[in-house]
Amino acid sequence: MDRRLFIKLLSQSALVSYGLLACPYLGWAKSAFDYALEGQELIQQKNFAEAIKALKESTRIDPNSDWSYGLLGRAHLGLGQKAEAVAAFREAVRLNPLDTYSRMMIEIVTQKPLPKLEKKKKPVSPLEQEAYSEEALMKSELKAEEGLEYQVKRVVIDAGHGGFDSGAVGKSGLKEKDVTLDLSLKLHEKLKADGKVKSFLTRTGDYYVPLSDRTATANQHQADLLISVHINANENKTPHGSETYFCSEKASSSEAEKVAALENSVIKFDEPYKKKAGYIDIEEILLKFEQQLYWNESGKFATTFQERFKKWLPLKSRGVHSANFYVLRMAKMPSILLETGFISNANDEEMLKKPAFREKIVNAIARGLA
Ligand SMILES: [Zn+2]
Repeated sequence: MDRRLFIKLLSQSALVSYGLLACPYLGWAKSAFDYALEGQELIQQKNFAEAIKALKESTRIDPNSDWSYGLLGRAHLGLGQKAEAVAAFREAVRLNPLDTYSRMMIEIVTQKPLPKLEKKKKPVSPLEQEAYSEEALMKSELKAEEGLEYQVKRVVIDAGHGGFDSGAVGKSGLKEKDVTLDLSLKLHEKLKADGKVKSFLTRTGDYYVPLSDRTATANQHQADLLISVHINANENKTPHGSETYFCSEKASSSEAEKVAALENSVIKFDEPYKKKAGYIDIEEILLKFEQQLYWNESGKFATTFQERFKKWLPLKSRGVHSANFYVLRMAKMPSILLETGFISNANDEEMLKKPAFREKIVNAIARGLA
């Protein structure tokens, strides 16, 4: 059974009509499934109005597809049409009470919990049985694929700090903002020369960019990775080496929390986020839902990255940690924050001054990305 057919079987509780699927191949009219796929793609392109048209066509042809109704709800949310969205999600749940996504979306939008599911065993048809075993097979295949390398094709490089915000300053006067800018510009040049990864910068000179603007740049460029480049600092002069962070609600340790507090300290200069009373920001709701997925992906990538990075750099690896970094939290993609060396450590600071060592860092980051 091919995947399209399998997805169709799963998406329809009624498990109907092989015939509809055959139509497009035979040059006949588009099937409900084709319209649903089209709708899904349009949602990804944020063309919600067109997505709604395609998905309505899908549900008109096949009113039993909870998958199409779930997508229709998602498309309405994209236009901020809460009532229509909830109606579509409700239809999806009515057709398939096990549709977790739609259930969750109803709860988020209405801010009311749905009654808990009673687990009743339905009799399983041979066709459903086949679909379930295909599902198990696909899940195990996906698990195996997860272990493969995450492919970064578009990266946004964020040079930490800038302008009035110097970041950490070393004993000899070396400023974090200058090192991060130099590293980021060089990395950008290197990636351009290598030609495998397309890169963008959040700043190209010594000026201040609010944390939220940095994330917005990454979102605008639809990057598949945001890497924020920093140099660490500690009140204690002993710690040295590199560490990679990803975003999490709760810090992985009190040390990680301190690092985030330091990097977040300029948040007071950001424009305050304006929210109308009683207004639910749909984008915020959707992001919350998708955030966890990005953060899981970030954690996995951070580990791969740090593993590769440390091989190419004569700096002690201090591993991977997580904390709540403002520059990462609203990113609509996996994101990491690299602390490469401690400016508060005399040895690290000396090395960070040397162009040859910076070159090594740049090469190590590039190796870490791909
Ligand atoms: Zn910093």
